Amino acid sequence: MSLRTRIAPTPSGFLHPGNGASFVLAWVVARATKGRVLLRIDDLDRARFRMEYLEDIFFTLDWLGLDYDEGPASPQDFLDRFSQSLRTDTYHEALRQLAEQGVLYACDCSRRHIREQSVGSLYSGFCRQRKLYLDTPHTAWRIRLPDDCEVAFSEWKQDVPVSLNLPACMGDFVLRQKDGSPAYQIASLCDDLLWHINFIVRGQDLLPSTGAQMFLAQQLGYEDFQKATFFHHALLTDDSGEKLSKSAGSTALKSWREAGKSPDDVWRQAAQWLGLEYREETPMEMAAMLSSGAKIKAHFL
Ligand SMILES: [Zn+2]
Repeated sequence: MSLRTRIAPTPSGFLHPGNGASFVLAWVVARATKGRVLLRIDDLDRARFRMEYLEDIFFTLDWLGLDYDEGPASPQDFLDRFSQSLRTDTYHEALRQLAEQGVLYACDCSRRHIREQSVGSLYSGFCRQRKLYLDTPHTAWRIRLPDDCEVAFSEWKQDVPVSLNLPACMGDFVLRQKDGSPAYQIASLCDDLLWHINFIVRGQDLLPSTGAQMFLAQQLGYEDFQKATFFHHALLTDDSGEKLSKSAGSTALKSWREAGKSPDDVWRQAAQWLGLEYREETPMEMAAMLSSGAKIKAHFL
């Protein structure tokens, strides 16, 4: 089985070094294994979408020295042929299947009510027993998780699958927003399935999302997704220890690029996550270093 991965930026802010290093990591592993790279831009959040963020994705990949085998050639090509808004039927079909299985329930809780009722930071399940009709206007759809719901998935270079208790880390998560639009978890899963993605690189902050998508894949019988391998990398923080955010201007790769900075620091971060000793190699040289290591062969080749 050959490796298929995706670089999945979101055009809701300028990309930061953590995003960049994540893309380099996915690219290096793909090139090291003679796998394929898809550029998949997640524009589900249309409220925060801006054309300059979309353009920034293409400039950044170019600056980092990353090419890809499938996906949009330009911002316009993305809007014409690849926007997630063109695949909403697919997402709604998956939601319809879950609704038919009876595992969804409608929730009309306000943000404030959710905050007041929440257990830790998780939704309390307040609407579980209220039996609101799914077609009640302005309701979100949540999934009813079994009480003892453990999900497991394969993590890169780990012999034993990672196991997560989903109710403890996600609660009954939202699959359809109050405005009727599909949530990230369902769109991301459907897209990964559509492009036969079997290697997924993301930050450790998305571990609960991986669990959620794995559970949905089980519910929907998406066997290919259940066989995917994941690489959850550490998150980069700013000088005050806060997680990097796309809104922070000074840490945007755009400002590095415009200042004529080399992408070295981003490449170094990816090398570090991969456990490679970095001596200013380019991503292509890193791929050669990685493919000469014996361990990788056990996963893809
Ligand atoms: Zn509710």
